[in-house]
Amino acid sequence: MSETSSLTDWTRATAARMADALAAGEVTSVELVQAHLDRIAAVDGPVHAFLHIDAEGALETARAVDADRAAGVSLPRLAGVPIGIKDVLVTKGLPTTAGSRILEGWIPPYDATVTRRVREARMPILGKTNMDEFAMGSSTEHSGYGPTHNPWDLSRIPGGSGGGSAAALAAFEAPLTIGSDTGGSIRQPASVTATVGVKPTYGGVSRFGAIALASSLDQLGPCGRTVLDTALLHEVMGGHDEMDATSLDEPVPAVVSAALEGAAMDLTGVKVGVVRELSGADGGYQAGVTQRFEESLARLRDMGAEVVEVSCPSFEYALAAYYVILPSEASSNLAKFDSVRFGLRVERSTVEKTMLATRAEGFGDEVKRRIILGTYALSAGYYDAYYGSAQKVRTLVQRDFDAAFAQCDVLVSPTTPTTPFKIGERIDDPLAMYLNDIATIPANLAGIPGMSLPSGLAPEDGLPVGFQILAPAHEDARLYRIGAALEASLAAEWGGPLSAQAPELEVAQ
Ligand code: GLN
Repeated sequence: MSETSSLTDWTRATAARMADALAAGEVTSVELVQAHLDRIAAVDGPVHAFLHIDAEGALETARAVDADRAAGVSLPRLAGVPIGIKDVLVTKGLPTTAGSRILEGWIPPYDATVTRRVREARMPILGKTNMDEFAMGSSTEHSGYGPTHNPWDLSRIPGGSGGGSAAALAAFEAPLTIGSDTGGSIRQPASVTATVGVKPTYGGVSRFGAIALASSLDQLGPCGRTVLDTALLHEVMGGHDEMDATSLDEPVPAVVSAALEGAAMDLTGVKVGVVRELSGADGGYQAGVTQRFEESLARLRDMGAEVVEVSCPSFEYALAAYYVILPSEASSNLAKFDSVRFGLRVERSTVEKTMLATRAEGFGDEVKRRIILGTYALSAGYYDAYYGSAQKVRTLVQRDFDAAFAQCDVLVSPTTPTTPFKIGERIDDPLAMYLNDIATIPANLAGIPGMSLPSGLAPEDGLPVGFQILAPAHEDARLYRIGAALEASLAAEWGGPLSAQAPELEVAQ
């Protein structure tokens, strides 16, 4: 085997395997980072998962890790394993745009707490991943820098808003990435790229330094190709942070041991609830999505779980409530992009005109649409009718979850109603785009944790189908236990995780 092909193979390994190989001296961090940089150079043209690559910074971290390891310094588990970070997180000295032209050229003077934790874990940062502008979207087509393409089929969307983070995993450009999930932006991209993504309990991961979309819904989380890899990153990211007033003051859930426990494939005593309103039982879901979902339920039963049906009637209104609450909070959060403090400035004769011209030029259509919606919903006279009503629905959704979790340990559904659609297909139809998140949004409204992991390929189009698991707040570990069990059961059939079977891309020479 030539040196190049053995390096290329490392990009196919799991993060856990990379960590073990580093510890055993089988490979160096510089070799791992270089293999991924080579892979990015070869495939990121057509995939466009990254907005910015920091080759020098990643290699520098890798060299320092290798030197410390050689000197016998004790290192964190993921030290030397490379990572990609969604461009919503500020990174000191590295461009951060949140996918928006309004932040083009902005270099943050500080690190987000999660960025800092990644650095403390000694993980080389390969670069920043593409996303829908300010995390608004389900396809990454709203990025101000052009769409990301799904490695399973380059003519299709990789999900959004974190399409870059998911596509980077599926294209083997990074073994781990970070995402943010306000209504599904970690779980829906995971679903359509056959990768794993977790939205932790609200407050479980610090939001300090994450460019806010809707503060009461936003949550950062780990993305990987396996449940265990995702758990390893979750433990790096999580934990209390005094810089975030909503940060939970409690230990990070023991998600790594839960993932290891789940891999033993024994779910005796676990009660799994199928949410009627999210299961596609009333139609509207692609046939292959429903089929793979049913098969995954059968696997859970085979491993000893009891599967029951539960009903959450208020979920019917969750999407509508979300699209009032989110634009309201977003319109307020985005007011800070005023041409004075950050990024783009389109100079005009007065401050007001400069501000107007900057926002008109710097924001894309979807962002403008939501600012207008949110400003309207919050205006005097409409506040009670729209924002107030949406908040009441939010309470009802929370109560539905409470009632459902009184009957079972976790809730499950397909993550998305369909496999990935074609780029361009829904861009002019905001409602069709919004409907993608029908199954993921309730978790954000209630602040509970959720995971998406692969449950197979749809027979009709051969494209990935995701399985969603939801748990009560603070019980993130349950996601990993059940997820790892399902993953192990599926892997026995596929000969490994489905994410490892993404088609080989045409490699640029
Ligand atoms: N697609 C949803 C939206 O556009 C979710 C976005 C997100 O989770 N950041 O609002």
